[in-house]
Amino acid sequence: MTLLDTYEHTLIPTFAVPPRVMVKGEGAYLWDADGTRYLDLLAGIACVGLGHANPLIAQVIAEQAATLGHVSNLFATPTQIHLAERLTGLLGHRARVFFTNSGTEANEAGFKLTRLTGRTKVVAAEGSFHGRTMGALALTWTEKYRRPFEPLPGEVVFVPYGDAAALEAAVDNETAAILLEPIQGENGVIVPPDGYLQAARAIADKHGALLWLDEVQSGMGRTGAWFAHTHEGIVPDIVTLAKALGNGFPIGAVLATGEAATLFTPGSHGTTFGGNALACRVGLAVIEQMEPLLPQIRATGEWLMGELSALAGVASVRGRGLFIGVVLEDPVAQVLAAKALDKGIILNAPRPDVIRLVPPLIVTQQDLALLLEAWPTLWKEALHG
Ligand SMILES: *Cc1c(COP(=O)(O)O)cnc(C)c1O
Repeated sequence: MTLLDTYEHTLIPTFAVPPRVMVKGEGAYLWDADGTRYLDLLAGIACVGLGHANPLIAQVIAEQAATLGHVSNLFATPTQIHLAERLTGLLGHRARVFFTNSGTEANEAGFKLTRLTGRTKVVAAEGSFHGRTMGALALTWTEKYRRPFEPLPGEVVFVPYGDAAALEAAVDNETAAILLEPIQGENGVIVPPDGYLQAARAIADKHGALLWLDEVQSGMGRTGAWFAHTHEGIVPDIVTLAKALGNGFPIGAVLATGEAATLFTPGSHGTTFGGNALACRVGLAVIEQMEPLLPQIRATGEWLMGELSALAGVASVRGRGLFIGVVLEDPVAQVLAAKALDKGIILNAPRPDVIRLVPPLIVTQQDLALLLEAWPTLWKEALHG
């Protein structure tokens, strides 16, 4: 029995059996059980921004675990309070925070918060992904994820993403919130037209609805800014975060600004683990280390997008910072990713014709040259199946 045979017989098959067992990481690289090295351009799905086995993160985890890990929300800890201060400070506008353990839990909390407006309708986008728990699933567009679990909490209306007129037509005075990803991740890194979030802000204001941005994937440095929406100069009412906030350690957060920050009151929502001292210590260390990296993330992303555009088989490249979708001329992304894995490069294919690049944010041009050099061969091989 190999380890993967055991995997197959012991794990509930919600995921396909993975192609490799990974045993070690360092920076932008992973090693499998056979000792093969991989350049990781997926980073645990946009989570491990500061790199695998980051020594400073490992150190704070060890120190905090040896000091105080968990006391429940019946008590406060300094790390929780300090992270709350730091994170709300990044957003400003009298923001407050509720901590969770994941993105889907952050969205679940966000969804409950919208109900406290006294309205129930939420307008979300086609192609959206917000998570897999019942509430987050109700907000997720993908039919095949939703259908087997219906009835889900209503009333969610989906409109084409990036289309301000469609949003305007769907939002009314019964609408509790507009929910959007500033850049859609699971849908293949879709960047909406400039001005879309500003339009969404204006539409929400006109109808007294909340503007809720799911920055679980796009936030915490991925685009070279703390939040992808900063680019449009707007202030959302709710922002949900997770992924890169923990560098792989489970933590999520709901930030609410202004009036939205006053909707939850004692007893409205809760969590046992959320906001524990250990997770919050990691969040703090992530913010400290990420801050000086932001300009470099933008520069590396711009350079990489330029290089990718010139490659064989690339129809177009879209994204911001190190949140990049490579659109292929043929729908061979799945095969290309499999060929890349065999050559020691981890790629992800969220759509048949799209390769998503969400590498560790510390990745260098030298690391990325491995992909650029391998690409012509990968493309040729992918075309031949
Ligand atoms: C990953 C993701 C989620 C779900 O987060 P989990 O931590 O997997 O629960 C929600 N929204 C977006 C935009 C995501 O990318």
